Amino acid sequence: MPELPEVRAHAERLDGAFAGTRLASFRALSFTALKTFAPAPEVAVDHPLAYVDQRGKHLLLDFGVATYVIHLMQGGRLRPDEKQSAKPRGGVARWVFDDGRALLLTEAGTERKAGVWVIDGDPEVQPPLDHLGPEADTVTPEALLEILHSTNGRIHGLLRDQRVIAGIGRRLANEVCHRARLSPFAMSGKLDGADAERLVEAMRACISEGLAFERGREDMSASKDRPGAVHHRKGEECPDCGDVVRTVEYRSYEVAYCASCQTGGKVLADNTTSKFLK
Ligand SMILES: [Zn+2]
Repeated sequence: MPELPEVRAHAERLDGAFAGTRLASFRALSFTALKTFAPAPEVAVDHPLAYVDQRGKHLLLDFGVATYVIHLMQGGRLRPDEKQSAKPRGGVARWVFDDGRALLLTEAGTERKAGVWVIDGDPEVQPPLDHLGPEADTVTPEALLEILHSTNGRIHGLLRDQRVIAGIGRRLANEVCHRARLSPFAMSGKLDGADAERLVEAMRACISEGLAFERGREDMSASKDRPGAVHHRKGEECPDCGDVVRTVEYRSYEVAYCASCQTGGKVLADNTTSKFLK
């Protein structure tokens, strides 16, 4: 899933290409595309795109009179639509601009989870953005420590909870835990100020690395190409210590870690119900 760096760099890309262009039409192409009933989805027609922004894993097309908030989920993409065919493969929604260009939201696969919210007024205080925690690269060590102690959960899961911190998914959670030298299964309630500081540094470093990588590209990267030390690197050498990268496998994803760097050398049992996951 695209995370904060991918979505922010893409917002910048789209802003550079489309900001200032007037909207000619908007059309939902699938029944599940629109997540809101009001205002009408055509409300921004005849208005210029003020800017494209990012919040958490969401893209925002701000037309002043209304904002389209887009969640790509796992397989969604928002790209310039050169063909503008009547029934594009995986088509979710299309914005056509008065210079003839268009943006097409597509979703690969059959999940039908990507969608568009049409928002009147400040999008920050309305669904789906109103429940988001602070952006992962702006949270302070003090604020993070408060968050860590307010809910006692495993750090990997907590980092991925968008209501707690916005913008981190499975890949960044793996990379942040590795960089902070913390077990992905450490209980947040037991972490101290120094841990929070290392986590904040790790989040900022991982996000800024990801951003630098994405900004050098013409389109959003594929997950396997993104920079990192442990994610998608099972069996490879940890770049920091040379130990082998290990994983704990779940049905739909894996937690990747380096035992030498993160768990004092302890190999975590590859079973989610194991009592050894400490
Ligand atoms: Zn290591």
